[in-house]
Amino acid sequence: MSLSNELFERGKNVMPGGVNSPVRAYTNVDRNPLFIKKAIGSKIYDVDDKEYIDFVNSWGPIILGHCHNDVIDAIKNTIIYGLSFGAPTEKEVLMAELICKLVPNVEMVRMVNSGTEAVMSALRLARGFTGKSKVIKFEGCYHGHSDSMLVKAGSGSLTEGMPNSAGVINEFAENTLVAEYNDLNSLEELFNKNKNNIACVIVEPVAANMGVVLPENGFLEGLRKLCDDNNALLIFDEVITGFRLALGGAQEYFGVDADIVVFGKIIGGGMPVGAYCGKREIMEHIAPVGDVYQAGTLSGNPVAMAAGYEQLMILNKNRDILRTVTMNSDYIANEMRNIIANYKVDAQVNQIGSLMSVFFTKEKVNSFKTAIQSDSNVFVKYFNCMLDNGIYIAPSPFEALFVSFAHNSEDFKKFLEVFEKAISEI
Ligand SMILES: *Cc1c(COP(=O)(O)O)cnc(C)c1O
Repeated sequence: MSLSNELFERGKNVMPGGVNSPVRAYTNVDRNPLFIKKAIGSKIYDVDDKEYIDFVNSWGPIILGHCHNDVIDAIKNTIIYGLSFGAPTEKEVLMAELICKLVPNVEMVRMVNSGTEAVMSALRLARGFTGKSKVIKFEGCYHGHSDSMLVKAGSGSLTEGMPNSAGVINEFAENTLVAEYNDLNSLEELFNKNKNNIACVIVEPVAANMGVVLPENGFLEGLRKLCDDNNALLIFDEVITGFRLALGGAQEYFGVDADIVVFGKIIGGGMPVGAYCGKREIMEHIAPVGDVYQAGTLSGNPVAMAAGYEQLMILNKNRDILRTVTMNSDYIANEMRNIIANYKVDAQVNQIGSLMSVFFTKEKVNSFKTAIQSDSNVFVKYFNCMLDNGIYIAPSPFEALFVSFAHNSEDFKKFLEVFEKAISEI
């Protein structure tokens, strides 16, 4: 028995499903998960010493590749002074100043410990600021696992077939209204039915938790306008798009302003970090200045700040990094489309910047309804072929594939060879 399988058996005995986050359990792909020993650059190694090219990259944070020297050094140079103080440190100021400099419409920042926590706090802030109770989200968008966001959610909850979670009481769910991504009419209808009750609209500007679904022309602009017309705040959940599509995230990339911006993943460089940010007049409603309470014993933790700040500084100093990962992603996405066309397989590759996903369906994917048409049996065959041949991708058609700066032409060559093999066997 492989060491991974042995650990999984032991793990299932003492952890629900053997994991600490559901999608890691590989429940939908007919095999057991790999237990990981280490990762360096573009490669990841399991406990049985098998090497894979990593296109998961910790679900997004590792945009520079694993174990980037400067990030590791920044952490080493921090931990010798202590791990946590529960008091302010210089790095938190530097981090907030950098985020304010890079991200449009951001004058103040509050650091937290995960994307979930950032979203949950941002919604409380929006409600506190507007004095209204309802929020609108989009079907298939994932915003972490706080109660009000586990309504028609994406990501693991979609993969596990439970977009609505048990344990979320109706009183919460009733205050979360759900619109269709890329469908402004569905949003307008909700606004009309709930006049003066909508605190905010939250959206992944590029949906990346139902597979990657791009916003159609005018969609984000339309969101902005409907929010303005109804005195509601617009929250961009940039946990995936932030510091990736552009240093200023989706606001910069699409030229659409948000009122509150939420970060996670990349902002921590691999450490558990989240943040919510916005204009001073909104952010100053947060305690201790304002009356919206939110706190965190480990928030702004020095080790997490060291990793996140270093990664952002590297992206800021070397503007070619985002350009390069985007160029490389454009290249492999096009090659993938060529392979799909050659073998006449029903599949779509959606890609923007260093994000992409493959849907096994005939039709163009531009909505939740078209995304879930992806044939899950075909996906399972594809996934297993990729993994068996050394390509580590997410075990779900509803998760993105992430290209990092550490991937080189050899990695892409191998990836495309294996991709062709997988497509040819479908
Ligand atoms: C991952 C993710 C979250 C949740 O972040 P966690 O750190 O897992 O809590 C929120 N929003 C989006 C868009 C995400 O991709």
